[in-house]
Amino acid sequence: MKTLIAGNWKMHGQQAWTVKAAGFDRLLEATDREHIEVLICPPYPFIREMFVASAARHIKIGAQNCHAIEKGAHTGEVSAEMLADCGAEYVIVGHSERRAAGERDSDVSAKASAAFRAGLTPIICVGETLEQREAGNANNVVEAQIIGSVPDSAENFVVAYEPVWAIGTGKVAEISDIKSMHAHIRGLVGDNVRILYGGSVKPGNAAAILGTENVNGALIGGASLNMADLSAIARSAPKN
Ligand code: PEP
Repeated sequence: MKTLIAGNWKMHGQQAWTVKAAGFDRLLEATDREHIEVLICPPYPFIREMFVASAARHIKIGAQNCHAIEKGAHTGEVSAEMLADCGAEYVIVGHSERRAAGERDSDVSAKASAAFRAGLTPIICVGETLEQREAGNANNVVEAQIIGSVPDSAENFVVAYEPVWAIGTGKVAEISDIKSMHAHIRGLVGDNVRILYGGSVKPGNAAAILGTENVNGALIGGASLNMADLSAIARSAPKN
């Protein structure tokens, strides 16, 4: 199982950043990368150009969201099929920033099903708030999210465990907490699903996080905007 290093650019970037991604793609040529898979999920308008520009294909391109339906009168929406047509291979679904805007587990599950229909791999995000953790409910919350967000009989998907309080805050979960939550998730999804950790992953903490049992990669927000940081994180993945 290759370690997945996935960058989520959120609503950052501009057309010119495509060049950064292409440079990173070439940089990986000289990197030992048998054991890793590198993915960047830019905003929708940059997906096609990033796919074309990263011609060496050492990075894969993904999206940050999709609509559940293939086509129709849904102004402003983008279908999983359109993303696949533009070169995307993955799509993030159920990110906590979208859940905070009202997305429910059933919506996330429908989007993950749309991803399968289009031949994309969904990265299904789950994670507890600080309040839920402090109340001792982290495991139950994440378990309920997984049960509600992973479609029945789903096979080729990735789970990203992202404690909400660790996203974009600089606060990282303790390694012991990451280990325990990932073991819990492993028990729910089985051995063949990659489980990523997300929440303030940086070059300085990546090796410890990626070296933790049942951590099969990272979903990286802020640090993925800097290609040197993303590359350092990719290089710190253990060679299993
Ligand atoms: C994220 O957006 O999924 C994320 C983990 O962000 P950051 O790395 O900035 O905490």
